[in-house]
Amino acid sequence: MKRIVAIAAAAMLLAAGMGGCLSGAQGRVKPGKYEASSQGISSMVKVEVTVDAKGRIAEVAVDAAGETNGIGQVAAPQVAKAIVESQSLKVDAVSGATKTSSAILAAAGKALAAAGFDVGTLEGRKAAQAVDEEVTVDVGIVGAGAAGTMAAAAASETGAKVLIVERTNGIGGVSKAWAGGPFAVESSLQKKAGYDIKKEAVLQRVLDYSHYIAYAPLAKAIIYKSGSTIDWLGGYGVYFHANPESPQLAHRDDPMKWQLYCWYDQFGKDVAALDIVHAKLKERGVALRLQTTATDLIQDKDGAVTGFIASKADGGKLTVHAKSVVLATGGFANNKAMMAENFHTEKITGFGENYGDGARMAWKAGAARWDLQSSLLHGSGIVAGSKPGKVALSMSPFNQITRSPLMWVDLSGNRFCNEDAVYDTAYTANVGYSVGGSYYILVDRATLDDYTKGSRITMDPAVGGPNMAKADFIALAEDGVEQGCIAKGASLAELARQTGMDPARLEANVKEYNEAVAAKRDPYGKQAASLIYPVVEGPFYAVKMQISTLGTLGGVRVNERLEATDASLRPIPGLYVAGGDAGGFYGNTTTYPPYEGLATGFALNSGRIAGESAAERARGK
Ligand SMILES: Cc1cc2nc3c(=O)[nH]c(=O)nc-3n(C[C@H](O)[C@H](O)[C@H](O)COP(=O)(O)OP(=O)(O)OC[C@H]3O[C@@H](n4cnc5c(N)ncnc54)[C@H](O)[C@@H]3O)c2cc1C
Repeated sequence: MKRIVAIAAAAMLLAAGMGGCLSGAQGRVKPGKYEASSQGISSMVKVEVTVDAKGRIAEVAVDAAGETNGIGQVAAPQVAKAIVESQSLKVDAVSGATKTSSAILAAAGKALAAAGFDVGTLEGRKAAQAVDEEVTVDVGIVGAGAAGTMAAAAASETGAKVLIVERTNGIGGVSKAWAGGPFAVESSLQKKAGYDIKKEAVLQRVLDYSHYIAYAPLAKAIIYKSGSTIDWLGGYGVYFHANPESPQLAHRDDPMKWQLYCWYDQFGKDVAALDIVHAKLKERGVALRLQTTATDLIQDKDGAVTGFIASKADGGKLTVHAKSVVLATGGFANNKAMMAENFHTEKITGFGENYGDGARMAWKAGAARWDLQSSLLHGSGIVAGSKPGKVALSMSPFNQITRSPLMWVDLSGNRFCNEDAVYDTAYTANVGYSVGGSYYILVDRATLDDYTKGSRITMDPAVGGPNMAKADFIALAEDGVEQGCIAKGASLAELARQTGMDPARLEANVKEYNEAVAAKRDPYGKQAASLIYPVVEGPFYAVKMQISTLGTLGGVRVNERLEATDASLRPIPGLYVAGGDAGGFYGNTTTYPPYEGLATGFALNSGRIAGESAAERARGK
């Protein structure tokens, strides 16, 4: 197994404690090494489990090299570690990498069954001992992502007694490992880098982008706070560096789009920025309850929020009485019904464990629905095939195709945009959204042959850039055909039949596109340098793409203090909402202004302000 992550039990107290119990309960278990595999998001994930002489799970080695770089591959060691630590398969999927996590658990289950374990017991299908509890705090916070963590930091600084509940078994949500950093305006960092963009100008851009539907007092509060938040987090040991240049080609001529971005120095490291803050919060006495899911708010007879109810991992109920409550559950990108209702398509890939709980609880308490159609539409990827193949196409050199401005057609066979949109990750997703979230990249044999030799076209360099290794692109495309994520036809008519496109529409669009390539003049305005590859020589290939969202950006109406409000902006006493649950900053624009770091910046600053406001109320002000 290459690129294996292996987690051993040796020094794990918890595992040692449970090991005896397991070997007793699982008398048929035979020591040894057991291998099994299961289909992940883009590859077969292989797991090798080592069972020791005492019948304990001593080691779990995972080969997830074919899974998504930075997502599934990052999740693999976490799931392996959790299996060894808990000596069970009752392990939460890693937020945003649920398919890879499930594949690891399924493969580990098969391997452990072969070793003689009762998989049902390992999966914890036996009832646990449920215990109900009741606690009283000043500020109760739901969600331990960026927004919830900042709220806890700001509130606890005032001496408030703070409790955070978090549904997963780890802190951080989507904020922890994936986001590179926040935007900030007029911070000490930007000043040191010589970047001179003013708060008023940024506020004006955000308002312009939304046609003035963004709620200006909220946008002003966030933008004006953002510079100081960089130094404030320095006080917690979280440091940043300025963006030296735009990673996105389309942003290069617009400094506001990239000079505001601040990278976490911790980005990509084992200990994330939010881990550092949580360590400080623990020292300060902030309570954190993992695997605890808030379900309902508690209100007094006047409608003021006075706490919430949460369900615990043991099945028991936690009742939290609090003077203020902050909801920071990260939006609803993984709530299929809410996504379909607000974005009118199921063809958007989401991340995280964000199911709209915060919005649902706030609405029930009287808060207004707001900004439900703002989303971080961001990038697109090859749709996972139905069968395993030899290669994970999205990470192979084939991703040069997806990062090039080739010919794109919708599911009916119609070309629909200037494909130079590929140079802006947000706009790539936006044009995909304009046709329902899914589309095809169309290439012919000659184009693939040229990529095999080394294409001259400029590719999108963002997020690490394409895999520029030499490869046989016909062989890669054929593997995609095998996997079921690329369609192939000897003629355009046959390709249309394979994909359900209208053959006449496809042929007419290809003809028009080929004329544009020949004339170096495109009705959609694509630059001449991108008009290189006509679609003429069969076989023809259609690569199926689907857009993704990094999260939703609204749900609950809030004011500039991050108080939840009704439709007339009257606050719901005691209730604060931050991060992906809070609406108004983006202005119901379906997509978001593509200034780098805008969403993390909103999560950090809205959380910080919500924590300050919540603590102020708790102090009786
Ligand atoms: C791959 C990726 C890359 C990104 N890159 C960037 C970037 O570079 N720049 C940028 O600006 N933005 C980026 N974003 C977006 C940004 O990370 C998010 O907008 C932001 O982190 C959201 O923070 P949050 O605190 O609102 O949500 P989250 O971080 O998701 O936190 C919400 C937390 O609430 C918990 N929770 C949910 N329901 C409950 C419940 N009922 N009870 C208890 N807990 C609950 C969740 O488990 C989670 O831990 C990226 C997002 C992704 C997915």
